Amino acid sequence: MSTKHEGGCVCGAVRYETQGDPMRVSVCHCTWCQRRTGSAFAVEPVFQMEQVVVSGPPLSRYRHISDSSGRWLELAFCPTCGTNIGFVTERAPDLQFIDAGTFDDPTWINAETHNFRRIYLRSAQNWAEVPDGVEQHEAFYQA
Ligand SMILES: [Zn+2]
Ligand SMILES: [Zn+2]
Repeated sequence: MSTKHEGGCVCGAVRYETQGDPMRVSVCHCTWCQRRTGSAFAVEPVFQMEQVVVSGPPLSRYRHISDSSGRWLELAFCPTCGTNIGFVTERAPDLQFIDAGTFDDPTWINAETHNFRRIYLRSAQNWAEVPDGVEQHEAFYQA
């Protein structure tokens, strides 16, 4: 578990480092992730909080209450450029979700060796293709 990966925001003020492998990678097609990312779905390697070290200015935070669960999710942004670095959830506050595209070199993320989980496929866009052979769920799924 000594694999290190670095990432950060587009302006470079916020940097982070992750240690070891993520416990899973959530690929979330919910409408909230579509709106917050401005894209078809979010790809989120999920780490234990202690696997992630963030440096730079204090992150801006926005707490959203989920329509469906009534629980909060807290997004973290670079205060300068607004890049969404990741989020934390009330459901599992010891886990740090990182937005996959913020890694300097996200090519280490591997759908075959990491535990990919496709969720909220009920709101997936027909222009966002889902590959065969990955775990898929119509809504939230808790192992
Ligand atoms: Zn920035
Ligand atoms: Zn989502």
